[in-house]
Amino acid sequence: MIEEITGKKLVPLFDEKDLKDRVKDLGEQISSDFPEGVTIIGVLKGSFIFVADLVREITCPVQVEFIGVSSYEGTETTGHVRITNDLTGDIAGKDVILVEDIVDTGNTIDYLLNVLEVRSPSSLRICTLLSKPECHQMQHQLDYVGFQITKEFVIGYGLDLEGRYRQLPSIMQLIDP
Ligand code: 5GP
Repeated sequence: MIEEITGKKLVPLFDEKDLKDRVKDLGEQISSDFPEGVTIIGVLKGSFIFVADLVREITCPVQVEFIGVSSYEGTETTGHVRITNDLTGDIAGKDVILVEDIVDTGNTIDYLLNVLEVRSPSSLRICTLLSKPECHQMQHQLDYVGFQITKEFVIGYGLDLEGRYRQLPSIMQLIDP
């Protein structure tokens, strides 16, 4: 069905166990880096499932915020990022981790870090489940990376194709047949 719509082949990349194990590692690393507590800011919409699983693997005190951005249409980035939902809480003086589903060009991360830095958090780090190093154009470093992947479009575990398929429990890659 997806293959018919996109003309691409759907290939499994990470199954539920791969994701659970890696999210657990990331949660342990974050808990040990921030024993006093941390504020997680999930980037909507793609990170909502990752954030839900990640915070349940974090053992230090944790607060959760979301910020909504829009930058993609179909399988192509538009290069223009805009905020669709802002934070509800103040992050001044807090240790903050911005949590992305995937870093492709890194434009979204660069834009959001610039927006958040002026709100004076005590520290600001980046965590992403997936990273596409060959597409990166950004200035900031990634602090926590779940998996590095190639540039092909992926769906599932929160990641969509035109608003659909976010509920797939594993991550699948769309590749040229
Ligand atoms: P960037 O600004 O790093 O180029 O893109 C970041 C955003 O683009 C991600 O948060 C995600 O919403 C979307 N994106 C980038 N690559 C993919 C992909 O392979 N699959 C999906 N579903 N979204 C992607």
